[in-house]
Amino acid sequence: MTAVEERGISQAVIGRLPRYYRYLGDLKSEGVERISSQELSRIMNVTASQIRQDFNNFGGFGQQGYGYNTSYLYEEIGKILGLNKQHDMILIGAGNLGQALVNYMNLKNRGFSFKGAFDVNPSLFDKRIGNVPIYPMDRMPSYISENHIDIAVLTVPKAAAIEITGVLAKTPIKAIWNFAHVDLKVPDRIQVESVHLQDSLMKLSYNIRRHEEGK
Ligand code: NAD
Repeated sequence: MTAVEERGISQAVIGRLPRYYRYLGDLKSEGVERISSQELSRIMNVTASQIRQDFNNFGGFGQQGYGYNTSYLYEEIGKILGLNKQHDMILIGAGNLGQALVNYMNLKNRGFSFKGAFDVNPSLFDKRIGNVPIYPMDRMPSYISENHIDIAVLTVPKAAAIEITGVLAKTPIKAIWNFAHVDLKVPDRIQVESVHLQDSLMKLSYNIRRHEEGK
């Protein structure tokens, strides 16, 4: 299925694909060769009809009598998510959060690789986060072009994030993974995904309240 045929697929469906991918990866490493939508539904705690509906957006992945081929489904969902390609990334803002992302996230196995980090703090220059060198900000635009960087990861304060996004818009960057608590305005050709851990915590807080009030 081409990107054109894929148009119109809801963000809700796309949002569920990483979870399918994660579960199928686990099943694959456990040696499970085939899985029915009922079985997948039981493990993932979603309805079998939701799974079939989700997969039908992509042609159904050829479920036969006794289920889906786990490896095939894993590879196909990986392709839809663009995980069959290497994505080179830079970090902008080599502080606490930025260093934690580079150090602790097991991204390389998924094809995401930090190539360089950038910061305004001169005491960080020529230091490294693991193997990743830290450079001054004025090198950032040319570094992106010369090293064919796809994704900029933004872990800087709000005001800096807005200013840096303006600079990034003039480079060939394809996407921004934004951790600053601000909505970024970018040209259409740049994809933005914002992550706010606090939103998840607030959701948890809501569920605690709802549960306690329902007692
Ligand atoms: P930090 O102060 O440890 O690190 C910020 C880094 O950005 C510093 O190294 C600083 O020198 C650098 N910086 C500042 N201005 C810059 C600029 N103009 N260009 C380049 N580098 C610049 O802060 P932190 O704890 O790592 O948090 C970073 C940001 O992430 C903050 O805005 C914080 O609110 C946000 N944050 C978001 C989440 C989330 O879930 N989205 C979670 C934690 C923190």
